[in-house]
Amino acid sequence: MTPEDSLMKVCDSTLDDRDIVTDPDILRSYSRDRSTGSVAAEPIGVVFPRSTEQVATVMAAAHKNRVPVVPRGAGSGLSGGSNAIEGSLVLCVERMRDVLDVNLTDGYVETQPGIFNSELREHVGRSGMWYAPDPASKDFCSIGGNVNTNAGGLCCVKYGVTRDAVLGLEVVLADGQVTRLGRRTIKGVAGYDLAGLVVGSEGTLGIVTMARLRLRPLPPPATTAVAVFDQVADAGRATAAIMAELTPSMLELMDQQTLQVVENWRPMGLDVNAGALLVAQTDSGHGSALADADRLLQICDDNGASLTHRSEDEAESEMLLGARRMAILAMEAQGDWLLDDVAVPRSRLAEAMVRIQDVAGKHDVTICTFGHAGDGNLHPTILTERGDQEAGARALLAFDDILEVALSLDGTVTGEHGVGNLKREALSRELDSVSIDLHSRIKQAWDPLGILNPGKALPRW
Ligand SMILES: Cc1cc2nc3c(=O)[nH]c(=O)nc-3n(C[C@H](O)[C@H](O)[C@H](O)COP(=O)(O)OP(=O)(O)OC[C@H]3O[C@@H](n4cnc5c(N)ncnc54)[C@H](O)[C@@H]3O)c2cc1C
Repeated sequence: MTPEDSLMKVCDSTLDDRDIVTDPDILRSYSRDRSTGSVAAEPIGVVFPRSTEQVATVMAAAHKNRVPVVPRGAGSGLSGGSNAIEGSLVLCVERMRDVLDVNLTDGYVETQPGIFNSELREHVGRSGMWYAPDPASKDFCSIGGNVNTNAGGLCCVKYGVTRDAVLGLEVVLADGQVTRLGRRTIKGVAGYDLAGLVVGSEGTLGIVTMARLRLRPLPPPATTAVAVFDQVADAGRATAAIMAELTPSMLELMDQQTLQVVENWRPMGLDVNAGALLVAQTDSGHGSALADADRLLQICDDNGASLTHRSEDEAESEMLLGARRMAILAMEAQGDWLLDDVAVPRSRLAEAMVRIQDVAGKHDVTICTFGHAGDGNLHPTILTERGDQEAGARALLAFDDILEVALSLDGTVTGEHGVGNLKREALSRELDSVSIDLHSRIKQAWDPLGILNPGKALPRW
């Protein structure tokens, strides 16, 4: 019997028949995430465990048989992190979606990993609580995926990214052992922060089977402020000035190319002649949200905005936020697209925007830049005619140049989408050799046989 057959035999005896898939058509749909430009292969099977015990049994068998395992949440990733590799078993947690406990007194929720972000938000909302991290994909990404990519979102500029919400995790290790990491308390420094190490580890250290996440009371109602700029660099300068003085609960940017693509896809009256649009929200309590919004718009005026206004109209606010959330979907519909995800210190944002435009000119491609401006996190997305291979090759060069721009401005090659199999080489450029060695030794300690998501997240060494 081959090692793969031995593993599948254990899966057969552990899982219900309907929780194991080997049909090639279905396998294909679980073989890659939403990224373009990343490589993927067909797995030997996909399993859908429903409990920690089932995950542990499958992992112990995979370890014994040395079969690689690719953890998968909802497959909305944008870096190839959950793409299958040749001969791998995909372990998808989408059927582990129970909320296990909502603890109002201590302010946390414990949940299985497969639940969608927005489902969890709704669930805790019924108890008057709020789970802050809100990726634009919140309606179709899982909490386990959010933990493993350390996902950001629109309100993270004030309320923090996923890492800031993780109190504890249950993790199944590569050999099937189960451990509980982290704590229930707000403070706690006992031992290394192993839960923190798992956050953003892209399924290379263990399978997250439970997440204990910090909840907050619902924030006060937000005021929306909008500023239009002729020059995208001015929007970058305004962002840095705003963040030096205020704490908005959202500060998002769309450049002209993005506005055009979104408006093309779903006409909604966006100003497609604007060089850039900043959409901000303030939710400071005790009535000061309005004052903060006014000050924010004053800063935009001082930095060259051509038009500013505070939106009193909820429908308009929803429309603008919807436009921002739709940006990636609009690009997907437009043609071939290659989405980048870089972050720079906010003081370098204006420079980054200008240099990204230069990259577009140099390679004769369209680059739509949008993103979480308040975090310095940009998603320059290269659009080319569908099927135009020559333009596709130029897009790849532009993609690489954008990473270089970020690095040269003291930024990073990924702000929130992760390294996956798309940016391993770029990661080697960002980390020094000592850090690369440490990464390698940490991986070795957690997964000595290297069966967990091989070929992902770590630099090439
Ligand atoms: C339209 C659109 C908008 C987006 N907006 C944002 C945004 O605003 N912010 C943002 O950060 N991202 C965004 N993303 C990217 C994506 O949604 C996030 O990276 C998300 O966290 C991935 O979750 P997932 O459940 O789909 O994970 P997957 O894609 O299935 O997996 C992601 C990674 O996590 C690992 N993994 C998943 N579950 C587990 C688990 N239980 N245990 C161990 N490893 C696991 C996988 O191996 C992989 O490495 C967007 C994507 C799209 C398509």
